[in-house]
Amino acid sequence: MENCIFCKIAAGEIPSAKVYEDEDMIAFRDIAPQAKVHVLVVPKSHFATLAEMDAAQAELVKKCLVKIPAIAEGLGLANGYRLIVNQGRDAGQTVHHLHIHILGGQDMGEKML
Ligand code: AMP
Repeated sequence: MENCIFCKIAAGEIPSAKVYEDEDMIAFRDIAPQAKVHVLVVPKSHFATLAEMDAAQAELVKKCLVKIPAIAEGLGLANGYRLIVNQGRDAGQTVHHLHIHILGGQDMGEKML
C-alpha cells in the first residue's frame, strides 16, 4: 500500500534493523524501543486491524504467531517476553499496518494484564 511505512520496510524501500524475514513476514527492531528488546513482527500483507483482516491475512497472522517463539529465542528472550497488538485510536495505534510488538530483555515490572 502506498504511503505505508511498514509496507515500504517489507519491500526493502526503507531500511530497518531486521532480525527475521521470510515470504510472509518481516521482523525488525522498533525505532523507539520501549524495552531493552523491542521488535515488531509485521505480516507483509497490508491491513490495519484484526477487524479488517480477511481469511488469507488471518493465515499470515497465524504464521507470525507460530514463528514468534523462534524469533524470541534468537533475541535471547529465554526468560519470557510480552506481546502487544494495538488496535485503533484508543490503543494508541500509530502505524495502520497490523504488527505485533515483542517486548522483553528485562523484568517487565508493573503491567496492565
Ligand atoms: P503502534 O503504536 O502499535 O502502531 O506501533 C508502531 C511502532 O512502530 C512504534 O513503536 C514506533 O516506534 C515504530 N516505528 C515507526 N516507524 C518505524 C521505523 N521506521 N522503524 C522501526 N519502527 C518504527
